[in-house]
Amino acid sequence: MLIDLHAHSTASDGTDTPAQLMAAAAAAGLDVVAITDHDNTGGWQPALDARPDGLTVIRGAEFSTLARTDSWPVSVHLLGYLFDPEHAAIVTEQARLREERLQRGMAIVAKMVAAGIPITAEQVMAIANGAPVGRPHSGQALVAAGVVTSVDQAFGSYLSGRGPYYVPKADTDLPTAIAMIAAAGGVSVIAHPRGRGEYRALTFEYIKELADHGLGGLEVDHPDHSAAERAELRSIAERLGLLTTGSSDYHGTNKVLRLGQDHTDPEILARLVAASSGATPPVGPAGFDW
Ligand code: AMP
Ligand code: FE
Ligand code: FE
Ligand code: ZN
Repeated sequence: MLIDLHAHSTASDGTDTPAQLMAAAAAAGLDVVAITDHDNTGGWQPALDARPDGLTVIRGAEFSTLARTDSWPVSVHLLGYLFDPEHAAIVTEQARLREERLQRGMAIVAKMVAAGIPITAEQVMAIANGAPVGRPHSGQALVAAGVVTSVDQAFGSYLSGRGPYYVPKADTDLPTAIAMIAAAGGVSVIAHPRGRGEYRALTFEYIKELADHGLGGLEVDHPDHSAAERAELRSIAERLGLLTTGSSDYHGTNKVLRLGQDHTDPEILARLVAASSGATPPVGPAGFDW
């Protein structure tokens, strides 16, 4: 059983359409894939419509959240699985974030345009093509303009959170997002908790607090995590009784990694499914009594 619980499509900042993501998952030998686009569930139906017979699909999303701890606020990505997409708080918050991402994405582009970088707002909007706008869309415009040779290179310079063109966005309060996913019948897992500076906020004590407020798990195996970070996270999860997932965080050609390169233990997925309300169950042949 090869299980990848974190993958993006063109419904956010991946380069495969939901249908292409399904085909890529089957081609990569996956038995189970979760479609987890940023801040929206628009990819769910087209993914299910294109699901190959042998593949099981878990419906999810990656929520943009903010951890407000004693230090300064830190951006944290929170995976929500198997939640009801029509839950009122989620619908409202995802609509707000879509607008927030649009304004912020355009503010980033405006800064670059003012500095003479040859990209346009129209171009970035066309690349996003209706998906909530993310920095990788601007990255693709920078590649098309010949300013950088890859989106990854753009993240090291023009798109860096410490760079001159960065503009933050107003993300959902992390404990609120955990509560929202739980109220919608889903299970929450912190995405790449050591991937991008989150360690400053995600201390053992703070994760314990989140676990007390309904957090379901930690994404331990992720391409951005070193062996030492994985061991540290596994021990935190064990002490707090949290699930430990693994996933590739596939973004198509926007990021250099392959589907299934990190993956989740079948028994963990069975526990994750059992912890959900059943509002949006897994779709496909995989049984969950492994
Ligand atoms: P945003 O959501 O607009 O702040 O952009 C962050 C997104 O960019 C995340 O979802 C990451 O998947 C993606 N990202 C971060 N670093 C890189 C990188 N080095 N190469 C490609 N994509 C990246
Ligand atoms: Fe992304
Ligand atoms: Fe993420
Ligand atoms: Zn992701």
